[in-house]
Amino acid sequence: MTSPSSAQTDGDRSPGHIGPAIVWFRDDLRVADHPALHAALEHERPIVAIYILDEESPGVRPLGGAARWWLHQSLRSLTASLEALGGRLILRRGAAGPIIADLVRETDAAAVFWNRRYGLAERTLDTAIKHDLRAGGVDAHSYAGSLLFEPWTIQTGQGGSYSVFTPFWRACTAGPPPRAPFPAPSAIPGWTGEIASDEVDGWGLEPSAPDWAAGLRATWEPGEASAQAVLATFLAESLPHYARDRDEPAQNATSHLSPHLRWGEISPHQVWAATQTAQRDLTGPALTSATRFLTEIGWREFAYHVLFHAPDLATKNLRPAFDAFPWPPLDHEALAAWQQGRTGFGLIDAGMRELWRTGSMHNRVRMVTASFLIKNMLVDWREGERWFWDTLVDADAASNPFGWQWVAGSGADAAPYFRIFNPDLQAAKFDPRQQYIRDNVTEYGTNAYPAPLVDLGETRRAALAAYERVKNPA
Ligand code: FAD
Repeated sequence: MTSPSSAQTDGDRSPGHIGPAIVWFRDDLRVADHPALHAALEHERPIVAIYILDEESPGVRPLGGAARWWLHQSLRSLTASLEALGGRLILRRGAAGPIIADLVRETDAAAVFWNRRYGLAERTLDTAIKHDLRAGGVDAHSYAGSLLFEPWTIQTGQGGSYSVFTPFWRACTAGPPPRAPFPAPSAIPGWTGEIASDEVDGWGLEPSAPDWAAGLRATWEPGEASAQAVLATFLAESLPHYARDRDEPAQNATSHLSPHLRWGEISPHQVWAATQTAQRDLTGPALTSATRFLTEIGWREFAYHVLFHAPDLATKNLRPAFDAFPWPPLDHEALAAWQQGRTGFGLIDAGMRELWRTGSMHNRVRMVTASFLIKNMLVDWREGERWFWDTLVDADAASNPFGWQWVAGSGADAAPYFRIFNPDLQAAKFDPRQQYIRDNVTEYGTNAYPAPLVDLGETRRAALAAYERVKNPA
């Protein structure tokens, strides 16, 4: 449906002119189940698809190195998908507001479509752009494309937000189920006018001198087709045993979907629907596994719920009592030993080296390495959050700070501070044959392997003593 304002704008133009619809791609680098693209196509206008690398708008967090590598590959993949359907992806770099305004002017666009984002800086930007577009007589439409349950739609009985996962997820699942995914378009009528576009190769997103991305390339295949293949393989091979095996890093038991979800190469709706279909054939523990997997998708939703209501999640303790935590001065050498996997603790070093090599780390090991940094090394969780942000291919504005604050004890529904993972006991329990450790730390058990960086017992006692200041602030 065309709004009166855009009809009026069209009326000013030459007969036969049809202003295109702009589809602004952001964290949704796919063509199937893309509500904004789907809606734009229903308007029967030519499509101008754009991705903007915005490193200038205030408050938008710059991407980390591994994320930039992923983005490069994913944009190439999206470009190819759009071209195969008859469209084209325009690339521009700079502050999104002026770029969208320029593009509207250059193309005489009648409307702009996008899927919503949930960080405060991004929401502020999108609201301002929507306002400016409408003030200029251009339609602006936004959709829910990246979350099953948008944060403001899930409320407590008192109309507030949730700070505990279980009731949050119960509230989500008690309501109407997530909508079914939209199919992929069969064709995209591309705009045929001249429009300038950058080349993704010119954006310098991939590392060079040194090129540290060999392990990322060997591990991952970014892009929508690959995301679908990863989901299909997981559902066919691992879903029935997910609940049993998901905590063991040496098992290939989890979905590996997190970067694909982070970049929106696959939507949670697609994951939800495919899992629902797969679980129809399951019974007993296999059915429990499917429910467990969907609950993990729920943790992603919860992290966004928390981010929406606490936009400073990456920098500010959710529980203000933790502001009193007496962090000692940062020991840069010790931090480097943790980052580089030279702590002398097998599970920690395996995790940190896996992260550096592949841009990812198993969830159990994320929890243990984070606990070690915060509680055995007494390093502020924000240091660890920043390192993960730079090195993870799935570095996520909600899940990463949420995970760090969960481990630190300062977050929503967090692990109690006094639960300090012992990395050796965790290794014995979840990597009993030391396969994960040996796969990642080739010199483990030899003289070349570093001595332990800390005494686990002593540092545990020191951490608990420091925690007294949180419980009993001066
Ligand atoms: P699966 O077990 O197959 O789970 C399926 C999906 O559910 C995941 O892809 C992810 O989207 C979601 N999910 C699962 N567990 C969580 C969780 N605890 N919190 C939020 N979502 C979850 N996840 C990220 O996507 N990005 C991050 O930046 C991130 N940083 C983390 C930092 C720390 C300190 C911790 C403890 C966890 C972090 N996680 C993060 C959550 C989790 O570790 C990863 O989502 C998971 O390891 C990804 O592997 P998978 O796709 O095989 O997961």
